[in-house]
Amino acid sequence: MITTLPKPTNRKPDTAIYERRESVVRSYARSMPRQFNKAENVWMHDNQGGRYLDFLSGCSTLNYGHNHPVLKQALLDYVMADGIAHGLDLHTDAKADFLNALENVILKPRGLDYRAMFTGPTGTNAVEAAIKLARKVTGREMVIAFTNGFHGMTLGALACTGNAAKRGGAGVPLNHVAHEPFDGYHGPDVDTAELLERRLSDPSSGLDAPAAILVETVQGEGGLNVASPEWLRRINAIAKQHGALMIVDDIQAGCGRTGNFFSFEGMGFTPDIVTMAKSLSGMGLPFALTLVRPELDQWAPGEHNGTFRGNNHAFVTATAALRHFWSDRQFQQDVARRSALLERRLDAMAAEHGLSTRGRGMMRGIDVGSGEIASIVTASCFERGLIIETSGAHDEIVKVLAPLIIDDALLSAGLDILETSIREAMTVPYGVAAE
Ligand SMILES: *Cc1c(COP(=O)(O)O)cnc(C)c1O
Repeated sequence: MITTLPKPTNRKPDTAIYERRESVVRSYARSMPRQFNKAENVWMHDNQGGRYLDFLSGCSTLNYGHNHPVLKQALLDYVMADGIAHGLDLHTDAKADFLNALENVILKPRGLDYRAMFTGPTGTNAVEAAIKLARKVTGREMVIAFTNGFHGMTLGALACTGNAAKRGGAGVPLNHVAHEPFDGYHGPDVDTAELLERRLSDPSSGLDAPAAILVETVQGEGGLNVASPEWLRRINAIAKQHGALMIVDDIQAGCGRTGNFFSFEGMGFTPDIVTMAKSLSGMGLPFALTLVRPELDQWAPGEHNGTFRGNNHAFVTATAALRHFWSDRQFQQDVARRSALLERRLDAMAAEHGLSTRGRGMMRGIDVGSGEIASIVTASCFERGLIIETSGAHDEIVKVLAPLIIDDALLSAGLDILETSIREAMTVPYGVAAE
């Protein structure tokens, strides 16, 4: 029995200050014209007393929900005790605790051996560090990335990103990256790993020997396309064979989103480098990490630098999150059950309208056919109190990124709203729906 349901308000706030003083580059705020002032668990509240169920979770930054009490308490205790807030890359209790938790809760039980490189605080910083290190270690320039890949907005990471609108903002050539077809790009009958292998093995293909192959196991922004374990194993083997490093960008798919801590777990290969960010701090604090095999850790001290490397407040919340959620199997079992529920409900919606679904774990969506229909669906979800966004080359995938801690009943309640909104968009000719 759910006692709390979404309760949206429809009074739009005064946005004059944003129009006057905030750059027009803002984006999410445009489709959710409310002013938010509070959030807890799966809820965001606006300043008119409305509450919204959050199926966006900061693009998978809030896998443990908003202001989780265990994480919040750890941070409050730390701040109240005058814990170090900023310490460049100095040794701190908070950093040691984090590294110990990473070692004991995550790496050792999985038989993984990585060194943690603290980069600047956002995902794109972790990607920059990863490709820079790969280029340094191999002495090669070229990185192979994939169609529909998204890796961040700074120049190096943006060069690895596929989306033309994002790339167009660079203002300079984005080079030294080859975009090869992702798994399934040419349909189910074409093995794109085989194509890559052919091109890399052919001295006349025009494809230079790569420093790295950079891949998302599930493409978060590019349409929730899923790489199969066989394809990933093959790509990893191709990287090895051609002297390139295998980099998995786990910024969105990691931290439990696809079921396990790392999205590649159990697939029979170990990446050379893994990038993490988004939900790593557990509470929405900026924190990114590049995990590297020890023998690749060939930097000179300070060769890659930055003022905000290792956000100590984020160390505290990340440590609390690792210990609270990842010390036993309970959380993963809950996520697996919720993933199955999500899959079943999305499959039913797709079957009802002849649509298709995408994704894996709690990172799934439904292809509604066009960005236009998807934006009608997400807008009508929002009017019903559900925060949800789109993904894909044409923004045609409505993407469910519910917090992983969501109550099963609330997950169902949010999916009911999605189901109603899709039914409305698919059956009422749009444009007329609003009359
Ligand atoms: C979000 C994202 C990034 C970039 O992270 P920022 O924190 O926005 O810089 C990189 N790779 C993937 C897969 C992402 O989802």
